[in-house]
Amino acid sequence: MNSNSKLSHSSSNFICRIIEDDIKSKRFEGKLWVGKPGPSSIQAFGKPDQAQIRTRFPPEPNGYLHIGHVKSICLNFGLAKKYGGICHLRFDDTNPNTEKKKYVDSIIEAIQWLGFDWRTEDGQENLYFASDYFCYMYEFAEAFIEAGYAYIDEQTPLEIRMNRGSLTELGINSPWRNRPISESLYLFREMYKGKYPEESLVLRAKVNMKSPNINLRDPIIYRIRNAEHHRIENQKCYIYPMYSWAHPIEDALEGITHSICTLEFQDQRPFYNWVLNKLSELGKISHPLPTQYEFSRLNMTHVVTSKRKLSRLVKHGYVDGWDDPRMPTLLGLRRRGYTASSLRLFCESIGISKSDTYIDFNLLEQSIRNDLDPIVKRSVAILNPLKLIITNFPKDRIELCTALKNPHTQESGKREFPFSRELWIERDDFLEDPPKNYFRLFPGNIVRLKYSYIIRCTGFHKDSNGRITEVYAEYLKNTKSGTLGSNSVKVKGNITWVSLNHAIPAYICLYDRLFSDPYPDIGDKDFINCLNPDSKKTISAWLEPGTFDSFDKTWQFERLGYFVLDSIGSYKNLPILNRIVSLKNSWS
Ligand code: ATP
Ligand code: MG
Repeated sequence: MNSNSKLSHSSSNFICRIIEDDIKSKRFEGKLWVGKPGPSSIQAFGKPDQAQIRTRFPPEPNGYLHIGHVKSICLNFGLAKKYGGICHLRFDDTNPNTEKKKYVDSIIEAIQWLGFDWRTEDGQENLYFASDYFCYMYEFAEAFIEAGYAYIDEQTPLEIRMNRGSLTELGINSPWRNRPISESLYLFREMYKGKYPEESLVLRAKVNMKSPNINLRDPIIYRIRNAEHHRIENQKCYIYPMYSWAHPIEDALEGITHSICTLEFQDQRPFYNWVLNKLSELGKISHPLPTQYEFSRLNMTHVVTSKRKLSRLVKHGYVDGWDDPRMPTLLGLRRRGYTASSLRLFCESIGISKSDTYIDFNLLEQSIRNDLDPIVKRSVAILNPLKLIITNFPKDRIELCTALKNPHTQESGKREFPFSRELWIERDDFLEDPPKNYFRLFPGNIVRLKYSYIIRCTGFHKDSNGRITEVYAEYLKNTKSGTLGSNSVKVKGNITWVSLNHAIPAYICLYDRLFSDPYPDIGDKDFINCLNPDSKKTISAWLEPGTFDSFDKTWQFERLGYFVLDSIGSYKNLPILNRIVSLKNSWS
């Protein structure tokens, strides 16, 4: 399957309309972004047809990607693709305390797996790190100090917080706000050299302590951190830019046209623009300046997506690691059996907006059903086996039955499996005392064994505990599926089975929603108390003998759902399979 062929760009949203207007008004015409990101990377010699939109996906390498990131990835890479532009992958590695190379590697691999690429055909790599721009960020900070747009504050973190005010109270100017420029410049350089301990000094932008927007009340743009940075070899870096300083600069240096982020950054936009306008005024960056647009983050029922919360689930053993198939991480979703195309289809189906809604978890499940149904091979699994003996079928006779590998296409070909005297059927396909409208096996009733004979139930056996251990039936001659006259007897029930002596034993992990509460992290509750105690059940099962005959790793087990071979492969020499999703939404 070529996963890229499923990428569709038909969906439209408010950001598409913004981009289309920009293209119509020729906002970027004649601007060509060339070479390495830097102050002179935007040059005005591009031909009009080379005008391009540029987006970026800016993960912080402090954790593994989750389904929320997938929405952002599909949006940013999808827009670039749709409008013939480029999407950069840029790691926002400005906080060395929490960032690690293993997260960088995992994020790179995950985005490629999703089917997206930051490289262009002409050899541009477009893989960037905020830390590559530290020199520019530093240079621009000095320029801000010299222009009177930034100052070194010596207040304690507590004082800074207290003096910032609140939504109802204006801020109070720092006593250091109007110190001489030369003093700030000197202290900033000393900070850079590591002459001051953490939290003793910060560099603040000088905007407006009386602004109704707290983000404009002289935000901190540099702080001291005595930490090793994973990309700065053998060299301690002592000062680190804050996100609000780093982000507009990264976007500008890379010639990003549409900087798309989630709604919580809306109140940061005025500062983002303030920084860009001042940088442009100081001649540090050129036009057109990037513009920030916000969309609502992905919220899903039965799911938490904050990295902090996911990490709590892993650290305290509520799940079996970051790739636990119940986790909404990409690692977990992949192990669960979600395909790249199903995730892209999901993101397309939920759209992009500015309203804070919750997406029903069932939509995600429906996306994988829709993706797998037309392509995967069918097979049979019996999860809760009960022995059925066809008493009038000779002991050593074996008959082959056939069925389509995929009922949607004749071309999928046929699968063959043996029928014999002793079979496994599902325990709940037999009832001693059935209610009305129960059409499966009970004494005296007839059902079809799917793809095989019609049988009549003749009795059953119970052990001393009252548990049914065997069911007896007789097959009706000339009723085998696919043979002449097989439909002459009408039956209402159709049950699955596997031949007892031929079935393959396996372990199956039946996964369900991790949280039984649809809104585990809304309100005062602790999301840990909302965990679904039945989210994982491991059982042993019997599979149709040909299940592993080809290289398939994903199947639909008839009547049960979609299953995938677990990445571990086997346990005690038996294959382990994960249930991806049941055939129908059974959650209510
Ligand atoms: P978390 O809140 O889970 O810690 P984050 O926003 O801190 O995530 P980043 O690595 O900073 O994680 O995110 C990279 C990009 O992914 C950002 O542009 C961010 O807006 C986007 N993103 C993160 N979570 C979601 C979400 N739930 N829905 C849509 N986009 C998201
Ligand atoms: Mg973040």
